[in-house]
Amino acid sequence: MIKCNNCGSVLPDNAKFCTNCGAEITAATSTPLKESLESTVESAAKDVKSAVEQTIRAPGGTVRSIPISIILSIVTCGIYGIWWVCQLNREVNEAAGKRDYLGGVAVILLSIVTCSIYFLYWAYKMGTNVESIRQQRGKPGGSSPIIYLVLSFFGLSIVALAIMQSELNDLYLGQ
Ligand SMILES: [Zn+2]
Repeated sequence: MIKCNNCGSVLPDNAKFCTNCGAEITAATSTPLKESLESTVESAAKDVKSAVEQTIRAPGGTVRSIPISIILSIVTCGIYGIWWVCQLNREVNEAAGKRDYLGGVAVILLSIVTCSIYFLYWAYKMGTNVESIRQQRGKPGGSSPIIYLVLSFFGLSIVALAIMQSELNDLYLGQ
């Protein structure tokens, strides 16, 4: 199979003219389909890689794009979300000056065995940490603990994570 370089139609190997656009098919005006698929996959992989790298290291934490984090969580069936929880757990606890805190993997495991009840506690706790980061930086207080808790309670953990990240982005960028 080959691909017409003029319109992108897939044609049999022996095609002389494109059945779609009528262009004459020569070696120069067609690409073997396999090669064309490979380059498509390669460029898609590059897009994902650059999306993941579209995180900025700011003083005190990592600024992440919220739409990209949500899309990655959905397309990876939650796997990116788990990684995101682990990263936020570490960054927020460290920024809040906590030394003894439960690691991200333990948070995930406890959330699973307690049917998400531990996750509600974690979300609330993260809110209190965000508040203490605000305080450290002389920013006015918010209602993060309650917002994260309520959203997580209603199954909107991903929204809680997005709001958490957005509040942290602002804090890290000094806004
Ligand atoms: Zn064509």
